[in-house]
Amino acid sequence: MSALYRQLPAIDRLLKTELGSDLVVTFGHSAVVQLMREQLQLARDFIKQQQQLPHFCQTDTDFMQYIEQQLQQQRQVKIQPVHNLTGTVLHTNLGRAIWAETAQQAALHAMQQNVALEFDLAQGKRGHRDQAISELIARLTGAEAACVVNNNAAAVLLMLATFAQGKEVIISRGELIEIGGAFRIPDIMAQAGCKLVEVGTTNRTHLRDYAQAINENTALLLKVHSSNYQIMGFTASVSEEELVALGREKNIPVITDLGSGALIDFRHYGLPYEPQVQAKVTAGVDLISFSGDKLLGGPQAGIIVGRQALIDQLQHHPLKRVLRCDKVILSGLEATLRLYLEPENLTHTLPTLHALTQALTTLQQQAEQLQQALQHKLAADFIIRVETSDAQIGSGSQPTAKIPSCAVTLQAKSGKAEDLYRLVAQFKALSQPIIGRIEADKIWLDLRSVANLAALLTTVNEL
Ligand SMILES: *Cc1c(COP(=O)(O)O)cnc(C)c1O
Repeated sequence: MSALYRQLPAIDRLLKTELGSDLVVTFGHSAVVQLMREQLQLARDFIKQQQQLPHFCQTDTDFMQYIEQQLQQQRQVKIQPVHNLTGTVLHTNLGRAIWAETAQQAALHAMQQNVALEFDLAQGKRGHRDQAISELIARLTGAEAACVVNNNAAAVLLMLATFAQGKEVIISRGELIEIGGAFRIPDIMAQAGCKLVEVGTTNRTHLRDYAQAINENTALLLKVHSSNYQIMGFTASVSEEELVALGREKNIPVITDLGSGALIDFRHYGLPYEPQVQAKVTAGVDLISFSGDKLLGGPQAGIIVGRQALIDQLQHHPLKRVLRCDKVILSGLEATLRLYLEPENLTHTLPTLHALTQALTTLQQQAEQLQQALQHKLAADFIIRVETSDAQIGSGSQPTAKIPSCAVTLQAKSGKAEDLYRLVAQFKALSQPIIGRIEADKIWLDLRSVANLAALLTTVNEL
C-alpha cells in the first residue's frame, strides 16, 4: 500500500510541468493547488479502501487533465438554464416567469450602472425606492399607492406585523391555505406575532361568523385567495364587498392575499378567470398583496397596493427595510408593469402571456419539428408521437384548469421503465437539460411552456 501512496504525484513537481504552469496562468496558483490537494486526499482515501490507484492518478497527464476538467467545472454556474417542457408555464421549481425583453434591459442597466433608485431627479433630492412603481401601479389598478417587497409571502408577513402584532386577525377556516415551499397562513401569523382567529367551517363561512368574532383586540379581517385548491359543492364564502362593509362599520381594515393577482382579464384571452387586483381595489379592500413572478409575468416580488395612509405605515415599519427589493428587481418590475400601459401588445411583449395564449396550431407545428429532430436520434428505441396534452398555468393559479396544448411523447419500444428513465437522464445531462414529465409510461414534452424553440432544437442535436 505504501508503494501505492508513493506513486501519487507531488504537487511541486506537477506545478513545474508545462500543463501545470498553463493551469496556473489560467486559473491562478491557489485554485490549482487547492484542487490538487483535494484530489490527492481523495486518491489516498481510495487507495486505503481499494488498494489500488484511482483512474485519475495512473499518470501525471491523467492527473493534470483531471484537475483541468475539475477547474473548468467549478467555473460553471449550477443554477443553469433548462428547457421547460413540463407544460407548467409558471413552474416554481424552474424559476416561474421569464422576463420581458424590456425588463431584462432595465435590469441589465441597473446592474451595470448607478440608477436613480432613491433619488428624485426632478427635485434633486432624496426620493423613495418604491416611488416610480407606486405611481405606475396606482395608474394601473386605481389603488392610491404601493409597497414592494421580496415576495408575496413577505408582503403578507409585513402587513400582519405592521397592523396586527399582538392582536387578533380573523380569517375563514376555508382560507387557511398552505402554498408549496412552506408558506402556511397559521405559521406566517405566528411569525408576525398575531393571533389567528378562525371562523366558519371548511366549506361554509358567513358574514355573521366574522361579525361575531370581532372584539376590541381585532386588528384585521383577512381574505386569502385559495390559489392552489378549490372547494366545491355545498359552499359559502363572504365577498370582499360584504367584508369591507363590516370592516368600515367596525373601523377594522380588510386585507386580501390575492396570490397570483392578475392585472388583466384572462377571460379575454380564452383563459380561466383569475381574480383581478382592480376588482379588489374597487371592492374597497384596504390592502391587497400579490406576487410579481406569477401571472404578472415579472421578477420575484411581493406587491402590496391600497390606501395611502396604510401603505405609508408599511413603508415605515422596520421589516420593510429587511424585506425590500434591490435595484435590479425594482427596475425589472417597473419595466414589466410599463408593458401593461399597452395592453393590446401584451401577448407578444410579456413571455408568460405569450406562452399561455399561443395558438394550438402553432404548438402543433412546433411539436412536429421537435418530433422530427428526436426521430432522427431516437427512432430505433422509441415510438415518438405528437399528441394533444393538458398544460397548466402553475404557481397555484387555477390548479384545476387545463390549458389545451400539444406534446411530443416518447414511449420505449422495449416497454421497459428503465429505458424511459435512461432517456430522462440523458435529457438531463444535455448542455441545457430538457425537463419533461412522465405520464402513462411515456415521456411528455409539452410545447406550451417552451421559451425558445430554436435553442431547444439545437440542444436536441447533442443527443
Ligand atoms: C403564491 C402565493 C403566496 C406566496 O407568494 P410568493 O410570491 O411565492 O411568496 C401567498 N399566498 C397565496 C394565496 C399565493 O397564491
